Amino acid sequence: MSLGRIGKLQFCIAKAIRRAYSNAGIPELTQVRHNVKRSPFTELEDKDIAVFESIVGNRNALREDLQAYNVDFWNTVRGNSKLVLKPASTQEVAAILKYCNERKLAVCPQGGNTGVVGSSVPVFDEVVLSLARMNKIIHIDDITGITACEAGCILENLDNKACELDLVVPLDLGAKSSCHIGGNVSTNAGGLRVVRYGNLHGSVLGLEVVLANGEILDLMSDFKKDNTGYHLKHLFIGAEGTLGVVTKVSLLCAPQPQAQNLAFLGLPNFDAVLKTFQSAKRNLGEILSACEMIDAPTLQADLDHFELNPPISGYPFYMLLETSGSNVTHDLEKLNKFVEIGMEKGEIIDGTIAKGARQMQEIWKLRELAPMALGKDGYCFYYDLSLPLRDFYSIVDVLREQVGPLATRVTGFGHLGDSNLHLQVTCTEYTDELHRKIEPFIYEYTHKLKGSVNAEHGIGFLKKNYLKYSKSPEAIAMMRDVKKLLDPNGILNPYKVLN
Ligand SMILES: Cc1cc2nc3c(=O)[nH]c(=O)nc-3n(C[C@H](O)[C@H](O)[C@H](O)COP(=O)(O)OP(=O)(O)OC[C@H]3O[C@@H](n4cnc5c(N)ncnc54)[C@H](O)[C@@H]3O)c2cc1C
Repeated sequence: MSLGRIGKLQFCIAKAIRRAYSNAGIPELTQVRHNVKRSPFTELEDKDIAVFESIVGNRNALREDLQAYNVDFWNTVRGNSKLVLKPASTQEVAAILKYCNERKLAVCPQGGNTGVVGSSVPVFDEVVLSLARMNKIIHIDDITGITACEAGCILENLDNKACELDLVVPLDLGAKSSCHIGGNVSTNAGGLRVVRYGNLHGSVLGLEVVLANGEILDLMSDFKKDNTGYHLKHLFIGAEGTLGVVTKVSLLCAPQPQAQNLAFLGLPNFDAVLKTFQSAKRNLGEILSACEMIDAPTLQADLDHFELNPPISGYPFYMLLETSGSNVTHDLEKLNKFVEIGMEKGEIIDGTIAKGARQMQEIWKLRELAPMALGKDGYCFYYDLSLPLRDFYSIVDVLREQVGPLATRVTGFGHLGDSNLHLQVTCTEYTDELHRKIEPFIYEYTHKLKGSVNAEHGIGFLKKNYLKYSKSPEAIAMMRDVKKLLDPNGILNPYKVLN
C-alpha cells in the first residue's frame, strides 16, 4: 500500500470533519470566554467592502453564513468576522493586504481551518482571507520530485497527483483531506512521518509570500541547495500567518515506497514502549517510517465513539510501527523477526502485522480518529508537548491526578518517534474550573521537564500566554522585532503567537 493510498480512511476523516462543523454546538465568543480587549484596528465600512469586491468580485467577498470561517474545527474558539475574502491569485492577495495595511484593517489568513490552537479563525472582526481558491498544482518534476503549488492546494490532492508519478508528499496527517499546503507550512505541521522525512524546514524548498504592505516576496526555489544569503523562507514556516501570507510553495517530494507494512502491538507498560522504540530504531532503522503510541484510555474513546475493530485489545499501551521500503519480503521478514524478539523478551505481549491494505487502513483509523473521538466526549483540552522520552508518559498520570473527577478522561497518544505527546483532558462541557486546574500547571510541569509547550501545532491564540515557558525573554523580544519589521501595523493575525 502506498502513502497516497488511504482513500477510504481519508474519506471517513473528511466526513467526521464535516460532521464536526455541522453538529457541534457553537462555542462562546473567544473575546468573551478569554476576556480579550480589541486592539484599535479600523472597523469595516461599506466603502471597504466595495474596494474588496472590486478586487475579488462580489461572489468571492462573502458576508453571510460565515460560521464555518469563524469557528475552528475543534469547536474551541469563535470569532465574529463580517467578511471573508477568497482571492484567486497572488496579485489579488497583494491588493487586499496593501489596502488593509493602509486602512489598518486586521486580517486572519485561513487555510483548511483544521488548526488546533485557535489561530485560523478571527478573535474579533478581522477580515478572513481564505486561500481556498488558490489551489493549483503548478508543476511536479517526476525525476527530482520537486513540486510547486499554490498555497490553497489541499494536501491530499497534491499527494494524489504526486502518487501518479510514483512520488509521495513528505507529510501526512489526519486532516489531509481538508488542510492546505499553505496552512501546513504556516504551522510547520509535523504529522505521522516526521520520523522518516523530517519536518517542513527540510522539505520546503521555497515560498512566495505576500507581506503585510502588499509587497510580493519571491523566495521560490527549485533546488535543494541554495546558500545565498539569509534563509528567509524559514521565518514564514511556522509563523502562523503573523508575518506574511504564503501564496506558493515549492516542496521536495520523496520517491513512493514500493512496500509498506504495519505492526500493531500491545505492551505491558511504558518502559516496554521505550524499549520497543529503541529496538525499532536499531533493527528497522532504514525502513521505519512511523512510530506512534496510543494508551488504553485513548483506544477506549475510539471504541466509544466510532465503530472500530482493533485486532488486539486489553493492554495498557499500543504501538503502531510502519515500515516503508523497497522489498516487501525483506521488510516483512525484518518486521516479523523484530516482533518475535520483542515477544521473547516480554516487551511486546501481543501483536499483529496487517495483512494487506484494508487491514492497514483499519489499524491507522485507530490512531487517526483518536483526536476526533476525544472531542466527542463533549469538550476536549488538547496539549501537544515535546518531552524527554523518559518523562513522556508520566506527565499523563500526573495530570490525571491533578484534575481528578473533573475530567471524563485524561489520555496520551502521539508521535513517540519524535518525542511528541498529544495529551488530552475531556469533559462534557467547557468549565473555567477545569481549565484553571490544567493551565498553567501543565506548562509549568513541561517547563520543569525541559520540554516544549508546543511540538507541532503552533502557539496560535490558545497557547500564547505560555510561549514564555519555551522561549527566553531575549528570543521573544527578537520575535517582536521581526514582527514589527514585517508587519509594522500588526494587521496580520493579531492576538496570536505574541501577547
Ligand atoms: C484530524 C486532524 C489531525 C491532525 N493531525 C495533525 C498532525 O498529526 N500534526 C500536525 O502538525 N497537525 C495536525 N493537525 C492540525 C492541523 O491539521 C495542522 O495544523 C494543519 O497544518 C493546518 O492546516 P490548515 O490548512 O487547516 O490551516 P488553518 O487551520 O486554516 O490555519 C493554521 C494557521 O496557519 C495560518 N495560515 C493558513 N494558511 C496560510 C497561508 N496561506 N499563509 C499564511 N498563513 C496561513 C492561519 O492563519 C493559522 O494561523 C490535525 C488536525 C486534524 C483536524
